[in-house]
Amino acid sequence: MSERKDFLRTIVEEDLKAGKYKEVITRFPPEPNGFPHIGHAKSIAINFGIARDYNGHCNLRMDDTNPTTEDTKYVEALKDAIEWLGFEWHGNVRFTSDYFPKLYEYAITLIKMGKAYVDSIDEEEMREFRGTVTEAGKRSKYGERTVEENLDLLERMKKGEFKDGEHVLRAKIDMSAANMKMRDPLLYRIRHAHHFRTGNEWAIYPMYDFAHCLSDYIEGISHSICTLEFENNREIYDWVLDTLELEPPRPYQYEFARLGINYTVMSKRKLLELVEGGQVNGWDDPRLPTIAGYKRRGYTPESILTFCDQIGIAKANSMVDVAQLEFCIRDDMNPKVPRVMCVLDPLKVTIENYEGSEEIDASYYPDDVPKEGSRKLPFSREIYIEREDFSETPPKGYFRLTPEQPVRLKHAYIISCKEVIKDDNGRIIEIKAEYYPASKSGSDTSGIKVKSAIQWLDAKAAKTVEVRLYDRLFSSEAPEGVEDINPNSLEVIENALIEPAVINEKPDERFQFERQGYFYADPIDYSDENPVFNKIVGLKDSWGKKKKSPKQEQKPQAKKEQIDGEVAAMSESEQARYDRYTSELKLNSEVANTLARDEKLSSFYEEALSTLHSPVALANMVSNEVARELKENDVDTLKFSAKQVAELVRMLDEETISGKIAKQVFEEMVKSGENPTQIVEAKGLIQISDPAIIAPIIDEIIAKNPDNVAKFKAGNTKLLGFFVGQVLKSTGGKANPKVVNALVAEKLH
Ligand code: ATP
Ligand code: MG
Repeated sequence: MSERKDFLRTIVEEDLKAGKYKEVITRFPPEPNGFPHIGHAKSIAINFGIARDYNGHCNLRMDDTNPTTEDTKYVEALKDAIEWLGFEWHGNVRFTSDYFPKLYEYAITLIKMGKAYVDSIDEEEMREFRGTVTEAGKRSKYGERTVEENLDLLERMKKGEFKDGEHVLRAKIDMSAANMKMRDPLLYRIRHAHHFRTGNEWAIYPMYDFAHCLSDYIEGISHSICTLEFENNREIYDWVLDTLELEPPRPYQYEFARLGINYTVMSKRKLLELVEGGQVNGWDDPRLPTIAGYKRRGYTPESILTFCDQIGIAKANSMVDVAQLEFCIRDDMNPKVPRVMCVLDPLKVTIENYEGSEEIDASYYPDDVPKEGSRKLPFSREIYIEREDFSETPPKGYFRLTPEQPVRLKHAYIISCKEVIKDDNGRIIEIKAEYYPASKSGSDTSGIKVKSAIQWLDAKAAKTVEVRLYDRLFSSEAPEGVEDINPNSLEVIENALIEPAVINEKPDERFQFERQGYFYADPIDYSDENPVFNKIVGLKDSWGKKKKSPKQEQKPQAKKEQIDGEVAAMSESEQARYDRYTSELKLNSEVANTLARDEKLSSFYEEALSTLHSPVALANMVSNEVARELKENDVDTLKFSAKQVAELVRMLDEETISGKIAKQVFEEMVKSGENPTQIVEAKGLIQISDPAIIAPIIDEIIAKNPDNVAKFKAGNTKLLGFFVGQVLKSTGGKANPKVVNALVAEKLH
């Protein structure tokens, strides 16, 4: 179970304690009109997760009330996704269409109770009669129909005697209700369409508001969990179940915030457009946020579930950074997968003083990964290295091979460049090199200093593979559609080279290609004759800092911990720190690694920790902000102390200041050495959380942007971020983003 108890679990526990239900029964109710995406994963994790945590069960129900868009292939995709994520639905897959006869009976009951009627006005009149938010609506004259008339018409609607749109069945509630949804909502509509399960049996189909609550009741659901956009539908949900006076217990609806992720689109409709428009290669294209896409790309179910757990369950919509998901997959694979060498853009190197051949024994795992296993690396005088790992005119800080600078071949020898061979166009085609026999990795007595270790492959033994480098499908943070597609989202490298052991021994399906990233053997296109690997994710977030070139990620910068194989091992004390940080203090491995390996940082961290027990927030501050300062300076030359950093984090924890302001305050501390509290007070940086102050600012921004309001109302929910951003901007980053989010969502709905 997750560590924090979310508001849904709190409700469930209270209901169980009060004896409201014998068992917790939830359901996941997708409409089979597209492949499930990461947003569905969140809903799956919540519904199945809660059932699992409280020994109940969760049903899988296809909400198949819209015959024109639904299909069995989507049913299969939904089943696959749930199984892959590691959950099991209770009994058979259920279908709302299984309940059509029962729902029809309930409709008859409502008519007989005088609580439903057949309306026959056209769409335009219906809109007109509904009224507005400020004006009551009025019921059409058909509201006066007798029970007999209504029963007769409904039956004939069912039999198909009328055309689409000629009549509808409506609940008779209140045409002046404040909640517009309660103004006689539609219960049934006529649809002459073929349904993928019931065929042409029905000419009428129940509306969501009628079918959903009753399907929940029929299945004995206790907690009906859905997303926020159904908040106003809750009243109908309750009305239907209460009006029918059903035997208790009945289900209740609870809403949570929909997951949105930047750099992607998430509605099934938009995904369908990409698939049908050929912008991607099918629903399982690894660039899509579909579960099938993630699965094919090589994401693990664990990483997706960890992500869902990390983002938590909120009551206000917000946008999650895709980098967080990428972080979860890295974090999952780092301690698991073998490290191997792959060269994407080969450059030949002839080691002129090497004769014969040998096989070098090399572990698949670095020292900090508690797994065993090794392979043989063939080595001879002709090898390939990555073209980028040689530079004739190196920029400052280039740690790899140059005419003057030797480099280590990972797991093998140190080489230096003797001669650069070029073709007629001046392109480098070969390096003549020399190796140092005494420099062999593990028994190096050469005394030669190198700054990095690079990947390489024996020319004769290397295998050719296809590598598919995926990048974000959209280059815009809040993409609208096709026009925002990143033209470099897929790069296929047909002739990359890889170690023979990867193909022959198949130690795993997922690998870290040293210095390149994490890769996965494509589950569909991979064969021994034509091996194909998908890039799952790079070794570190390359978008956070540089958003310019999507290719940047491949260009390994001088990253000490990854390049320099020889310094990878942690000392005993570093290891002990690392273990404590990850297990006891629950730091993620990347942060723990940064802190544990750096004496200055870790002692700073521990000192701060002794004043404030907020391990994760402190670790983030120390491994980012403080680390930047400590890189160039010694602790005693810093103007700020660990205690002050703790004070800063405390304000952050208590939500006195926002994350953005915290960074600003830190900059100030670096310069002036003043106390964070003083800085915050003097500059009036205290976070504004009072809705009474924030609300008028939102109103103003809404008034100033009528076009965006209209777009939002027309369904472009991504614009929520725009409004939130504007509010934060106009308060200089001082408004509490959570409060702003909730208020903006409330005002726009
Ligand atoms: P989409 O708009 O992407 O088509 P939907 O809401 O129409 O999604 P359904 O098939 O009706 O998709 O959804 C099944 C369940 O998954 C619902 O309970 C829905 O609330 C939930 N769900 C869908 N999208 C998200 C999301 N982005 N975040 C959380 N839950 C979601
Ligand atoms: Mg839907």
